Amino acid sequence: MRRSQKPEWQTKIAKERIEILFSLAEKEFKGHPERSRRYVELAKKIGLRYNIRLSKGEKDKFCKNCDTLLKPGATSQVRLDKSTKTIKVTCLNCKKVYRRPYK
Ligand SMILES: [Zn+2]
Repeated sequence: MRRSQKPEWQTKIAKERIEILFSLAEKEFKGHPERSRRYVELAKKIGLRYNIRLSKGEKDKFCKNCDTLLKPGATSQVRLDKSTKTIKVTCLNCKKVYRRPYK
């Protein structure tokens, strides 16, 4: 593993900030979708700067193409594909399609 130049406490704070930004994005989603998108954008930027990988749950929360929070029925369409055992998630904002395996 490559050693980071950033001290550990900074990474820790950055991680906390990402978590806060995601919860804010969730909170503002209904009333202020634009603000919500901005929070996701910021969280991604912090992650890049501090070399922090977003958790799987965090990554699945938003569209990587347009930073929209993916909410089934609101901003995303979710379809199960039984033949390939995948979940097809379509971002209704930019129409990007994500496929995720399910058990
Ligand atoms: Zn999108």
